[in-house]
Amino acid sequence: MYDVTKIRADFPILAREVNGKPLVYLDNGASAQKPQVVIDAVTRAYSQEYANVHRGLHYLSNLATEKYESTRGIIARFLNAASEDEIVFTSGTTEGINLVSYAWAAPRLEPGDEIVLSVMEHHANIVPWHFLRERQGVVLKWVEVDGKGDLDPQAVLDAIGPKTKLVAVTHMSNVLGTVVDVAAICRGARERGVPVLVDGSQAAVHMPVDVQAIGCDFYAVTGHKLYGPSGSGAIFIRRERQAEMRPFLGGGDMIREVGRDAVTWNDPPMKFEAGTPGIVQQIGLGVALQYLMDLGMANVAAHERVLRDYARDRLAGLNWLNVQGTSETKGAIFSFTLDGAAHAHDISTILDKRGIAVRAGTHCAMPLMAHLGISASCRASFGLYNTTEEVDALVSALELAHELFA
Ligand code: PLP
Repeated sequence: MYDVTKIRADFPILAREVNGKPLVYLDNGASAQKPQVVIDAVTRAYSQEYANVHRGLHYLSNLATEKYESTRGIIARFLNAASEDEIVFTSGTTEGINLVSYAWAAPRLEPGDEIVLSVMEHHANIVPWHFLRERQGVVLKWVEVDGKGDLDPQAVLDAIGPKTKLVAVTHMSNVLGTVVDVAAICRGARERGVPVLVDGSQAAVHMPVDVQAIGCDFYAVTGHKLYGPSGSGAIFIRRERQAEMRPFLGGGDMIREVGRDAVTWNDPPMKFEAGTPGIVQQIGLGVALQYLMDLGMANVAAHERVLRDYARDRLAGLNWLNVQGTSETKGAIFSFTLDGAAHAHDISTILDKRGIAVRAGTHCAMPLMAHLGISASCRASFGLYNTTEEVDALVSALELAHELFA
C-alpha cells in the first residue's frame, strides 16, 4: 500500500513552513527533496566511514570503496543494465552527455555528419552537440513536436539519413511532461545502424526504466532529481559503445600505467572516471535508489498518475490558464502561462508567498520555448510525496494571482 502520509514523514523538509505557510514543494523537476535515510547515509559517510576510494589499503579506504562501488550495482539494478560495468559514475546528466560528446562523438564525427535531436531537449542535451557543430562542422537536425507536445518516433526515424551518426532524445520533457516512446526510436535507429542517447533525467524519477528493453546505447540520469545528493549521477553506456570511446578527463584512477612517454588506460567504466569522485554523493545516491526500489517505481508511477489526472482536471477549470502540452503520455509536470501581462516570475513570487515552490523561466529549454511561442512559463512538477491537497493549494494560489493581475 502506497501511504503518502508515511512517505512524507521520511522527508524532514516537508514539515517546515515557508513564508508562514506549510511548504508545498512543486519544484521537483528542478531538484527533489531528500529522505532521512539519504541524509543519514551522507552524515554517516562523513562522520564514520570517510576516506578516498580505490587508493588505500587501510580499513576506512576499503570501507568507503565498498560503499561507493556498491552504488554502481544499485544503479545497474535500478536501470536494469546487463552489467554494472556499463554504469559510469558522473556528477549528473550534464557531465554524462558531455562525456559522450567528448569521448564518443568528437573523435568519430566528420564535418557534415548529423545528430538528430528533438526540439524539446534540455540544454544539457543540446549544447554538447553545439560544441561539435561549432568545432567540427557537425549538423544538428531538429525534429518538431506536435500540437499536443508529442514526439512521433517515426518523425525521428524519418530524420535519420546516411550521414546521421547519433540520435539524442529525452525520455520525458522537463517542460511538457511528455513521455517519449524511446524504445520505438531505438528499435528503428538500430535497424538503421544509428546509436541512441536517451536523456533520462526526468523519466527515471517517475517510472520504471529498463535500458535493455529500451535498447538504447546511452542513458543518462542525475542523482539530485532521484531524491539523492546533488553532484551524483551516472550514465549507462552499452559495452560496444564503451569500446569505441576514448577517455574524457585525464588523471588518477582512469589509468593503468603512466610513464614519461606513454600511458595506458584502465578498463571501463573506470577509464571514464578520472580523479577523486563524488564519493559521499554516490553513496547517498545508492541509498536513494534503494529507497525508490523499496517503494517500487511502478507504485510511484501509479501515485503520480493520480496526481497528474487530478491536477489536469483542476487546472482545466481555470479558463485563463494556458497549460502547455496535452500529451496522453504526460507525466505530472505542468507548465503554464496566465492570460494577461503577468510574467511567470511574478506568478511564482505570489505562489511563494503562499509557501508554494514552483519554477519560472525558460527551464533550460529555449528551443522549445521558441517553438511554443512563449518567452517563459511557470512549472509545477510533482514528486512521489505530493498530494491532491497540494494541487488544491496550487489552484487557490493561482486564483489569487489571477485576481491580482486581472
Ligand atoms: N535533462 C533534463 C531533461 C533535465 O530536466 C535536466 C535538469 O534540469 C538535465 C538534463 C540536466 O541535469 P543536471 O543539471 O543535473 O546535469
